[in-house]
Amino acid sequence: MFVFVLDTNRKPLDSCGCARARKLLKSGRASVFRRYPFTIIVHDLEVKNCVTHEHRLKIDPGAKTTGLAILQDNLVIWGAELTHRGFKIKKLLSNRGAIRRNRRNRKTRYRKPRFRNRKRSESWLPPSLMSRVFNTETWVQRLIKYCPITAISQELVRFDTQLMQNSEISGVEYQQGELAGYELREYLLEKWNRKCVYCRATDTALEVEHIHPKSKGGSNRVSNLTLACNSCNQAKGNQDIKDFLSGQPDLLKRILNQVKKPLADTAAVNATQWKLKEVLEATGLSIEVGSGGYQQY
Ligand SMILES: [Zn+2]
Repeated sequence: MFVFVLDTNRKPLDSCGCARARKLLKSGRASVFRRYPFTIIVHDLEVKNCVTHEHRLKIDPGAKTTGLAILQDNLVIWGAELTHRGFKIKKLLSNRGAIRRNRRNRKTRYRKPRFRNRKRSESWLPPSLMSRVFNTETWVQRLIKYCPITAISQELVRFDTQLMQNSEISGVEYQQGELAGYELREYLLEKWNRKCVYCRATDTALEVEHIHPKSKGGSNRVSNLTLACNSCNQAKGNQDIKDFLSGQPDLLKRILNQVKKPLADTAAVNATQWKLKEVLEATGLSIEVGSGGYQQY
């Protein structure tokens, strides 16, 4: 790993290797400025007398963690994984909501209803999501101070759940038909890793498959859909997944877990990425938005 270096005026210089940093510290030319990220300050250098190289900060946003990496050309200078508090915040706020709701049953003085006073701005996002944005912003701002970053790359999710208006993600009742077609397939492919869930075949045509069979009242909600190859789809027929996979409890458990799991994650990443982009644009650095490399599941 590399060590961040600041000049006399606390302006970032090119980072240096550990050995060089140790030498600088030992000789007294530099001292430790900050422990994490480890940064030293050089006492006898100014940035205008030095050459700094272009550094790129890469951000890979996730629901639970966000990956951060600083690259100089193709050399990784620094990397970190930022752990978000999103799910914790959501839990805390629901707890608070529950406590407040409790007031209704208590004998208390009359209070004028004031629910109508509250308005949300157009770009409002829940606190659990904003925490992800702010976390990332804080670290971007911090890194800019310690490293001569000239550009930022932000990874975007490949498909846009915003377009999938009535998906389970939006929390609105899913309506059949809205999701049919390309968006649904793309979403399912992404969610199920482009594999048949039963035999894990990849290089075959995948069919949309109802986990709880349609003939037995299974819905068309995305949470009831998965992808299977033709032969698995035929073999399952209109059996319930529990019967079909009765011999493979591990696989059954894994599928039933995945059915529910990534939804919140995808939604969180999706909802925050545009906000994050706005926030990053405020830094004034050039921002490159990439897509494709992202895989959360
Ligand atoms: Zn299969």
